[in-house]
Amino acid sequence: MHISKHKVVMMDYTLKDDEGTVIDTSQGRAPLAYIHGMGQMIPGLEEALEGHSTGENFNVRVDPDKAYGQRDENLLQAVPRELFKGVDELKPGMQFEAETQNGREVVTVVNVEDEQVVVDTNHPLAGVTLNFDVTVVDVREATEQELDHGHVHGPGGHHHE
Ligand code: ZN
Repeated sequence: MHISKHKVVMMDYTLKDDEGTVIDTSQGRAPLAYIHGMGQMIPGLEEALEGHSTGENFNVRVDPDKAYGQRDENLLQAVPRELFKGVDELKPGMQFEAETQNGREVVTVVNVEDEQVVVDTNHPLAGVTLNFDVTVVDVREATEQELDHGHVHGPGGHHHE
């Protein structure tokens, strides 16, 4: 079966940056499951998956514009250092989940000063070109209930009580 709108796709993948560093991989976990054509994947990957079928392996390079967007330097902001009390050895590069105007986001510490800390609220993969190695494990029709809920049920998806 070919991948098209409203198919449930299960896939194994490894994601690397342009330097070849592994950012994420499904190896050692269950394959990732999603419903095609519902905006659940980054656009560049979803476009690349379209038309592929079970058992196929392919590589795709996705520019930031079709992934997590470009970096926005306006998203650097200074926050009071006291927000981080309780953290030993606060250092640049540390990442925290924080409540921002846009909901729950990962923020990255850029600079630590006496009174304030500069954090970057860009998505950690903003500005990064993504290189996926994808193997399509399974393709099937989504059930009406899955389309209704907007997520996959069963292996790789949600398990309702
Ligand atoms: Zn559900």
